[in-house]
Amino acid sequence: MSRRIEIVEVGPRDGLQNDPVLLDTPVKLEFIDRLIEAGVKRMEAASFVNPKLVPAMADSDAVMDKVDRSKCAFIGLALNERGMRRAIEAGCDEINFVMVASEGFGKANQNATPEETADLLDRIAVLAHDAGIPLSATISVAFGDPFDGAVDPRRVAALAARAEAAGASEIALGDTIGVATPWDVRAAAEAVRVAAPKARLRLHFHNTRNTAIANVYAAVEAGVDVIDASCGGIGGCPFAPKATGNVATEDVVYLLEKGGYSTGIDLDSMIATARWLEETALKHPIASALAKAGGFPATP
Ligand code: MG
Repeated sequence: MSRRIEIVEVGPRDGLQNDPVLLDTPVKLEFIDRLIEAGVKRMEAASFVNPKLVPAMADSDAVMDKVDRSKCAFIGLALNERGMRRAIEAGCDEINFVMVASEGFGKANQNATPEETADLLDRIAVLAHDAGIPLSATISVAFGDPFDGAVDPRRVAALAARAEAAGASEIALGDTIGVATPWDVRAAAEAVRVAAPKARLRLHFHNTRNTAIANVYAAVEAGVDVIDASCGGIGGCPFAPKATGNVATEDVVYLLEKGGYSTGIDLDSMIATARWLEETALKHPIASALAKAGGFPATP
């Protein structure tokens, strides 16, 4: 049997939250339905943050209320206690708590230091545990901070250890501003694995410096089996200047399936959804390579 690599689709959350176009809830729901149709089984579609700061996520409650849960698990993001309580209230299947690896970004994104984000998780993880909801943690700017520069993998590893101790069953390393190289990915994966051996490791890449697909390859080679990606390569981060989109789901599916890995995602359906995003929903060019070129060999 081929090795399974799980793709967590983050287009409806990380993708849409920084797109200049605000989608109406019904269009967002159509996007989500199309992704499920393409085979997505885990998805970030909601973020329980201040709607004034992140208007694209203001309808998170309505989205969670209407999505079809039968075939896909929905992850809600939380940055603080209020967000965690809202995610529980909204009935998210999983909660992802966002920690931060460096001071500058921490101050801009959630007004907290790295240690404060770890302390906060320690304090509020019990809310998710008591509600019986799986908890994961993302360590954002794990490879570099737009204000402070490079981030030491030992610092990321120390935060991962704290997340695991708080009961996070999965830890995601976020290359929020797209600075990582494949060698950084290997070093970080190794450091985190030693520090948090029980947690599943998940990697999140942005293609700001054209390294995202190479980083996916490096992560898989380093034994990582959960990868975040966004249909069409849409996305960015409102508090990370010049950050561009997430690695495109269809580009990742093409790479991995060609390599004999199984993703459970239908490439042609994902490409069709990326093109629908570009032509019908967002009506602006998207960054995906496969949406432009199509698969190979071409489907008759
Ligand atoms: Mg991101």
